[in-house]
Amino acid sequence: MSLKIRKNIPLIDQHDKNFMYGGKFGGNFIPETLKKPIDDLTKLFEKLRRDKKFLKDRDNYFNNFVGAPTPFIKLENLSDHLGGAQIYAKVVSEANGGAHKIYNATVHCLIAKKAGKKYVVGDTGAGYAGKMLSMAAKKFSLKCKIFMGAKDIKRQRPNVEAMRKNGAEIVPVTTGSQTLVDAVSECMRYWVSNCDTTHMCVGSTVGPNIFIKICAWSTAQISRELIKQVKEEFGKIPEKLKLINCVGGGSSAAGFWNEFMDTNAQFIGVEAGGPRNSKLHAAPLTNGSKIGILHGAAQYVIQDSEGQIGSTESISAGLDYPGISPLHCFLKDTKRARYTSASDEEALKAYQLVSKLENISPSLEPSHAFAEAIKLAPKLSSSEIIIVNSCGDSLKDKDIIKQKLGSYVR
Ligand SMILES: *Cc1c(COP(=O)(O)O)cnc(C)c1O
Repeated sequence: MSLKIRKNIPLIDQHDKNFMYGGKFGGNFIPETLKKPIDDLTKLFEKLRRDKKFLKDRDNYFNNFVGAPTPFIKLENLSDHLGGAQIYAKVVSEANGGAHKIYNATVHCLIAKKAGKKYVVGDTGAGYAGKMLSMAAKKFSLKCKIFMGAKDIKRQRPNVEAMRKNGAEIVPVTTGSQTLVDAVSECMRYWVSNCDTTHMCVGSTVGPNIFIKICAWSTAQISRELIKQVKEEFGKIPEKLKLINCVGGGSSAAGFWNEFMDTNAQFIGVEAGGPRNSKLHAAPLTNGSKIGILHGAAQYVIQDSEGQIGSTESISAGLDYPGISPLHCFLKDTKRARYTSASDEEALKAYQLVSKLENISPSLEPSHAFAEAIKLAPKLSSSEIIIVNSCGDSLKDKDIIKQKLGSYVR
């Protein structure tokens, strides 16, 4: 049976009564103890998203703290260099903190305030979700606790320091692999025992359904801005339009595509293909991974022959995740979006070309999306429009770029 997207219903609301998308993806696979805090948060969010005053507050903070709207620019040099489609970028990296995660973090802190909570907790892998949450928590005078794998703390020093500088407490997680997967579990455990005073934030469109919803609802700001900017630039939505976004957990892509769901725009998601000569990758949709449960939700997930969560590898910390949002599993199976991958080498090359020709400097995550644009553009006519979500700034990847390319110029 083929899955269908229903028209005029927001993507996040396309689930059934079990909170599953297409009957297969998502849901709430959680311990009994998490039921009540999750029910309470769900009720609060459903109320707030219909509350005019809350929406006004949100928009105020998006404009005055996050820095919305972010620029929409034509990449003339890149387009001329490649010949073919006209390439544009939505420069989300201009947002406060240098990436889209600030939208989700800001909305979570607003919800925490409304709920009368004094503390926010969150998990982080590479440290960006934690850094953004600590920034937003500081803005809203909330006490912030970040759960982070002990191994990640060692290898992500600058982000750990940034979180501490923002006044956040870092809780090292020493169980299991001592990385993101265990940090999420520990964070949820902590939340269950402290939910009367504490709000929990998940950093991407993953986890139990309510966290997917809040996150995609927050990043949807990207496409609310973009659809206006596109209509201003072209007078209408171009007939041949491709929106290309990298996908890790999938929050930037979901937000980039949201307002275009019922238009003709084609959606292309680019996963992390890993090193060219390695079997490892972080691309469950491209590589036909099976459905499994990760962080409380059913999704395509990289796993070994025994069904254990498999190892991943990517040059880009933000994309190095074995699962993928149930929203993207649904968009893939309904064929509303197409997914592909770019290798580490292709992403590095794309970074190099874009930052040489243009006045933007994408981080390694969006460089995966640029790699696909660079592949596609020469095959298309000049009447075709490609827009890439440049969702992160390269500054955070300075060290790895220097190591791989010999120098870093921004
Ligand atoms: C975290 C991150 C990603 C990956 O997360 P998504 O939820 O897939 O967006 C991509 N780009 C940047 C810059 C990030 O910081």
